[in-house]
Amino acid sequence: MLSSKRALEFLQSIDFERTAGSPEEQKAMDLILSALRQAGYDPQVEEFDLLTFERGDGWIEFEGQRHPARPFSLTKPFDVEGKIAFVESVKFAREKDVKDKIVLTYSPILPKELLKLMSYGAKGFIRISGPMRGISTNHLPYKAVEMGKVLPAVSISYETGYKLFRSMAKFVRIHGEYKQKKSTGHNIVAVYGNRRHEILVTAHYDTVAFSPGASDNGGGTAVLVELARSLKSLRPSLNRKVRFIWFSGEELGLVGSYEYAMKHEDMLGLIDIQINIDVVGDTFGQNRAVILGNYELKRFVLKAAKELQMSISASQGIYSSDCIPFGLRGIPSINLARVGGLPSALGHTDGDRVAWITEKGIEPVLKLAHNLILKFGFAKKMPFKREIPPRIRKKVLEYCRTKSLRCV
Ligand SMILES: [Zn+2]
Repeated sequence: MLSSKRALEFLQSIDFERTAGSPEEQKAMDLILSALRQAGYDPQVEEFDLLTFERGDGWIEFEGQRHPARPFSLTKPFDVEGKIAFVESVKFAREKDVKDKIVLTYSPILPKELLKLMSYGAKGFIRISGPMRGISTNHLPYKAVEMGKVLPAVSISYETGYKLFRSMAKFVRIHGEYKQKKSTGHNIVAVYGNRRHEILVTAHYDTVAFSPGASDNGGGTAVLVELARSLKSLRPSLNRKVRFIWFSGEELGLVGSYEYAMKHEDMLGLIDIQINIDVVGDTFGQNRAVILGNYELKRFVLKAAKELQMSISASQGIYSSDCIPFGLRGIPSINLARVGGLPSALGHTDGDRVAWITEKGIEPVLKLAHNLILKFGFAKKMPFKREIPPRIRKKVLEYCRTKSLRCV
């Protein structure tokens, strides 16, 4: 039997920061592995090299006063002072506005835009966090960092940003003590059944720094554990194998799923569909399905939700998660989430806490994913064409470019 209570209990057991390549990631991995073994699986761990970071102090200083700041993950130790350039939108910033300056902005920053600031010769970067969020965690673009491109960058709270803006200070000093570190990430794989074709069911279990990642994505992690467990106890005889994967390194730039897709390139043709779960648990919120696939698939998902008398908003498009490396290779996916309340609103901060999550917040996605796995599993022929419409394929490529990811 499917139990959202058990899923919640599992989520409570991984209520800690789980950055990729850290001892806490391994602690979470051990908990996932032991739950899977208890359920009767023989889970496998696939290691991959990872560039990660060690946390350290950070602050900014203006008009003789220091304020807390959080260095971007993957920065190297820095201490720079410079003239401030307040930029409303980095997208439209010109070279002469930012050259040799420390850029201050409130807008969400895309990796592509950070790279632009670097190429324009910005000295540093300060990102003001959203209201009521404390200080958000951000990171430098992974691929660029791998190639040695690093920009001194910090996040500050909305309040500090406001003070800095109002002070009319001309100069600011930013200081960060994060270190880059080579480490190992771990993808966890558990397989149900032994048929040739497969349904891929995925969730990332790593978090950003400073966040216990309850809804992002402890919720998805716990849902996957419960899906695997209930399948083993139901023992349906399916026409497809179900491959569950808990990815690490998602938060640094989909590193774990990229590694998996590259390593198993020759097997990807056997994946009929991916179900990816990322952000689950809001007690009050809306259920979402983002279909990286055709209209037929979207209609199928809506029908499956209707059978459960579950309201859901479904759209065709891309989802910023581990569906991308598979989408690039032509594999359609269904991305399930529940958003709109706390703690998903506080994602990527220390406010994304299990304390806000109830069984009710877990149940819809758990049930729908279970329903879909059985439907696809029992189907003789898949009920949709395995294709990604050109306009969505274009979006996947565009996503890889703006996020500075590998586009292969
Ligand atoms: Zn996530």
